[in-house]
Amino acid sequence: MLLVSEPTLGPDEKEALAAAIDSGWITMGDRVREFEQTFARMHGADEAIAVGSCTAALHLILHALGIGPGDEVLVPSLTFVATANAVLYVGARPVFVDIESGAVPLMSVADAQRKCTSRTKAVILMHFAGYLADREEWQAFARSKDLLLIEDAAHAPGVKGVGTFGDAAAFSFYGNKNMTTAEGGAIITRHRILSDMIKRARSHGMTSNTRQRLVSRSPEYDVTLLGFNYRMDELRAAVGLVQLRKLSGWNDTRRRLSLHYRQRLAERCPSVLVPFKPSWVSAHHLLPVVLPAASSRQALIEELRKCGVQTTIHYPPVHRLTFYQDRYPGVSLPNTEDFCGRELTLPLHPAMTPADVDHVADSLAEGLRASQPAEVVQA
Ligand SMILES: *Cc1c(COP(=O)(O)O)cnc(C)c1O
Repeated sequence: MLLVSEPTLGPDEKEALAAAIDSGWITMGDRVREFEQTFARMHGADEAIAVGSCTAALHLILHALGIGPGDEVLVPSLTFVATANAVLYVGARPVFVDIESGAVPLMSVADAQRKCTSRTKAVILMHFAGYLADREEWQAFARSKDLLLIEDAAHAPGVKGVGTFGDAAAFSFYGNKNMTTAEGGAIITRHRILSDMIKRARSHGMTSNTRQRLVSRSPEYDVTLLGFNYRMDELRAAVGLVQLRKLSGWNDTRRRLSLHYRQRLAERCPSVLVPFKPSWVSAHHLLPVVLPAASSRQALIEELRKCGVQTTIHYPPVHRLTFYQDRYPGVSLPNTEDFCGRELTLPLHPAMTPADVDHVADSLAEGLRASQPAEVVQA
């Protein structure tokens, strides 16, 4: 089965893991620090903070920025549920913003403009499928409304400048992302005070960590703010360091496969829309397509499965998930709803070959023919 995504792991990761185990120091040590420095450099940032997940990263950012009850945060609904959940964790209200269009399924500045109130404190951008939001446009928007600008950069690691759009950014190293530590995440922020707070809040709000207490020979510590256990361990950082060395090569492979997809799909499935212009700056995390309105997505998913091709959906819109619909009924985002009703995510990962892409495109073309309702065929 050709999977939608697949982690690339091998002997280098095994060796790095074994070395971390042999070192005798298994959490928050030299490997975590080196991972943070390498990750920051790659994105053109001064500093990065490694954490347990992107969800933890988003929570820490909002917590450290002091966002809380009575505040509103603009978020896309076309995202993974964690983006909105983090807003609820700090007691604030997520306000869902529509996407621009099927061709540009990124949060619409015009709709964000309309959703702003006197209570709006921040906006969380999400670089959907790896395609970057417009840096200047969102910076100008945040400035004009005096909002904090946060990136959920889970889909776009390894692209220079990602994570430096605004006040802070969250990354994910979950197993299906462009690079993985199995579970893991990172934060980039350009504010010194914020990064100090986040580092403290990552570990219970404590003023010193285990290693510092060992080095300073003093077992004393204080707790100065509400913190969590959102730390990254040395085993994950060891795997992450290996993955970081390979990330830009993998992103380049993803880019080439995506371009190949665009050509093949244009030839063989002209009724299918591939969002974004081919030259759009991207980490090519996903290969989303928009199916023609008349086709049955479920039938296509089954047809493709028979051809050995897994497909999936990014995403069920967050505002339509039961938990959110119950909490915030009556939210209407026409472009997001149309996109999410017709979106299909095709396999894309660095272990694929151009022949795999051809097979997916052929299977999709065949599926589209087979799954078309009779009246459309006659028309
Ligand atoms: C994967 C993902 C997350 C959550 O990442 P975790 O590391 O699993 O917490 C958040 N936002 C987006 C857009 C994601 O794709």
